[in-house]
Amino acid sequence: MTVAIGVVGCAGRMGRMVIQEVLTTEGCVLAGGTEGPDEHVGSDLGPLIGVEPIGATIGDDPVELFSSSDAVIDFTVPAATRIHATAAEETGTAFVVGTTGLSAEDQAAIESAARKAPIVQAPNFSIGTNLLFALTKQVAAKLDPDYDIEVLEMHHRHKVDAPSGTALGIGQAAAAGRAVRLDDVARYAREGQTGPRATGEIGFATLRGGGVIGDHTVMFSNEDERLELTHKANSRGIFAGGAVRAALWLQGKKPGLYGMADVLGLN
Ligand code: NAD
Repeated sequence: MTVAIGVVGCAGRMGRMVIQEVLTTEGCVLAGGTEGPDEHVGSDLGPLIGVEPIGATIGDDPVELFSSSDAVIDFTVPAATRIHATAAEETGTAFVVGTTGLSAEDQAAIESAARKAPIVQAPNFSIGTNLLFALTKQVAAKLDPDYDIEVLEMHHRHKVDAPSGTALGIGQAAAAGRAVRLDDVARYAREGQTGPRATGEIGFATLRGGGVIGDHTVMFSNEDERLELTHKANSRGIFAGGAVRAALWLQGKKPGLYGMADVLGLN
């Protein structure tokens, strides 16, 4: 069976990588791509990835793309992802969501769509990072609250949300390991007279600069030792590869909201 994959936000950093991945993965064809208003709409998809025209043009109608795709992959912006979730709900098309920085309302739109369409949503599609989530949960469950948990991330200068979705995913995994809610223990910033660190806090620190694709470290420290787990992305290809793998995995799945741990069999 050949799976037709649509790519929304196809001219973005991730969108281009996903097109490349679809074109080079056996069993996939490119159903098409969309962009936001004024962004390359009407031009051929080929030049986006540095190849000759491939006879498919960039559109701006998400419902049309969802209707002609077996799965649609989304690395865009929260406002667009919300529109795409509605298109998934309308058409029942499998949907892969990688956009981060979503509000509670954006997330509610995805959860509503998951009643009609099978959806994989992940803050990070790389195998290494999903193993990091699993390890973080395990370590947090083993160590007592005397160990302070801090999550440090660095990304390229163009990134618009902070902390990264992956850092938040690490925080969620640590909180789950300790059987607490991240919202109750998260400390997202420190400045000025902060006072001493509260026991049980999960802290976040964000660095931005240059072209860094994505570095994440989680630290567990007490007075006597420090355990650090680190993942560094060397290429956006790992996210695109994971997203295409998720799109293929979704074929034949019942409506519902799945994660990369389901796709990778880590649950
Ligand atoms: P980018 O800015 O390069 O690309 C986003 C694209 O979406 C742009 O081309 C933009 O024009 C397009 N867009 C905006 N509105 C649109 C609309 N209404 N319809 C269609 N397209 C629209 O950003 P990026 O670096 O590719 O990252 C995109 C998102 O993916 C970010 O939220 C980022 O954090 C996230 N991301 C997630 C992972 C993961 O593994 N989950 C990995 C990398 C990036």
